[in-house]
Amino acid sequence: MIDLRLKVDPLPIVEPLVLRLCERDRSEHSEHDAHLIGRETGCREYEYLGFSVRIHASDELPLDGDVLMILPGQPSAHRLIRATSMHNTLLITEQCDQLCVMCSQPPKKHHLDFFDQFAIAAKLAPSGAYIGISGGEPLLHKARLFEFLASSAVARPDLRFHVLTNAQHLEAEDMKRLDEIGPERVLWGIPLYASDSKLHDEIVGKRGAFHRLERNLAFLMRAGASVELRTVVMQQNWGFLPDLANFVANRLPFVSVWALMQLERIGYGRMNWRNTFKDTSTEFSALKSAINMAVAKGVEVALYNFPLCSVPPDYRQFAPSTISDWKRKFLHVCRECSSRSACGGFFEWYSHDEGFEGIRPL
Ligand code: SF4
Repeated sequence: MIDLRLKVDPLPIVEPLVLRLCERDRSEHSEHDAHLIGRETGCREYEYLGFSVRIHASDELPLDGDVLMILPGQPSAHRLIRATSMHNTLLITEQCDQLCVMCSQPPKKHHLDFFDQFAIAAKLAPSGAYIGISGGEPLLHKARLFEFLASSAVARPDLRFHVLTNAQHLEAEDMKRLDEIGPERVLWGIPLYASDSKLHDEIVGKRGAFHRLERNLAFLMRAGASVELRTVVMQQNWGFLPDLANFVANRLPFVSVWALMQLERIGYGRMNWRNTFKDTSTEFSALKSAINMAVAKGVEVALYNFPLCSVPPDYRQFAPSTISDWKRKFLHVCRECSSRSACGGFFEWYSHDEGFEGIRPL
């Protein structure tokens, strides 16, 4: 697993510090640049506004262009942006108003606001970067989030954002703000687990969530927003997937993509694994019907987080490699597989003892 933290010698700071590591000449410069001035085994020293920043990292790790956030008194720096990665995500908050049965990051009560730091990080990101925004529920801090997206859109029109949200907190008056940010700049990743309101509400642990979501998807459609609809495949909604496909095709045909996702074995997903995980390597029928129906009606479908060999051959075309580089692993058997480069593998926290029965090299 790639480490998203780097050990750093303590700095005499009282406010969070965001800086970009520079190891070669850059065409664009920033007051937040820290320049490499020395190296020894396992440690690099940078100069930043007259003081020294010492980062401990293996000599092979590429750090040029990475954007770090260092918090007062902390011995590690957060790698907010890894310049060589396509999988950079800013965790906006750990608060959430839903309690999904498979939540990979159970909510916390308190919120630490790093929007100002994230705004600097976005400005320092590599050209054309696509940045994930996740939580908790980012729209719980809607005013700050919109401000961040709008200012980033002005400062860096080349950036794009993927915002993961339950979309519960949108209102009609937000549409003007979305228009200012630019509908082409943001892809909204929004979960919907069933077309049956009761079942969806049960899965997300919030009464009325389905109806609010339905209303707010209509707002987003009117705003011309791009939506990636996300459905985690579980025992709970397995038999209802064809109905959901029908609902998506008939009521939400504007979505850019309908992503059907495998479960992550972490947080509540791990706690509820036995009652929730659906082994799609041994049974794929409901998914097959759902995909066939959606595709026939012109909906773009994708399978996220499915190891390739867990999907029947005719449906592998829908299963791109989607697990982020920093949390992906492969199993021992994968060493002999000819499809490894196309396969997304497994989450780092996947346990094969309770996992897919049908994993085999292709
Ligand atoms: S054997 Fe491993 S690498 Fe090959 S398709 Fe299955 S999970 Fe992917």
